Amino acid sequence: MKVTIVGCSGSYPGPDSPASCYLVEADGFRMLLDFGSGSLGALQRHIGLYDVDAICLSHLHADHCLDICGYHVARTYGPEAPYPTVPVYAPADAPARLAAAYGMPEEPGLETAFEFVPLTAGSYEIGPFVLTAGLVNHPVEAYGFRVTDGTASVAYSGDTGQCDELVKLAAGADLLLCEASFVEGPDLPPDLHLTGRQAAEHAAKADVGRLVLTHLVPWNDQATVLDEASGGGYDGPVELARSGAVYDLA
Ligand SMILES: [Zn+2]
Ligand SMILES: [Zn+2]
Repeated sequence: MKVTIVGCSGSYPGPDSPASCYLVEADGFRMLLDFGSGSLGALQRHIGLYDVDAICLSHLHADHCLDICGYHVARTYGPEAPYPTVPVYAPADAPARLAAAYGMPEEPGLETAFEFVPLTAGSYEIGPFVLTAGLVNHPVEAYGFRVTDGTASVAYSGDTGQCDELVKLAAGADLLLCEASFVEGPDLPPDLHLTGRQAAEHAAKADVGRLVLTHLVPWNDQATVLDEASGGGYDGPVELARSGAVYDLA
């Protein structure tokens, strides 16, 4: 199983990365976790434009889902259209919300390109993967994910504040992609995002093999985010996410 960081910029694209998007591949099957602003462009450095087999959206904030709109154009009007529809596992509001973002009536919405599957907490068989979704701690309906191909596993926090469910999802995973949007400071809003230290605390409790800090907000000093993670009691490898980084999970 191979995990590629397509986009890891938090809340909006930065100069070096699109917003959230992770490519997970096994047995020739290609699945995206989130499809945030700008990620459709960078995705094409890694796979062909039409090679996406499934898409999972953690939540419907723009930095996690908006490139569905551009991808709808590609799959509906591309040179060899129509292309097969791609399943999109997403919160139940996704068809209406993304049709509105595109400027399309809710019927037919974006269903020439996508087949929306309403996401709830639970497990889904998607190609060679089992994807488990769990509700995390964010102001809107938001999920964290665990994906396994039966051999290796990756967990992804989506956007979350402190969250026991994230620890459960990530338990024993080979890799945890955990958001670290905040730097430590007074008056951080609760139930929204994590700091590097808190991400590391979740990684320690879940006993994961590797922690990658992601959803890195461009206005933060990233060295500080990484430094703060050292205070979280996690003794495995920790690094900052980088667009283009690839993790081969045996
Ligand atoms: Zn976000
Ligand atoms: Zn969010």
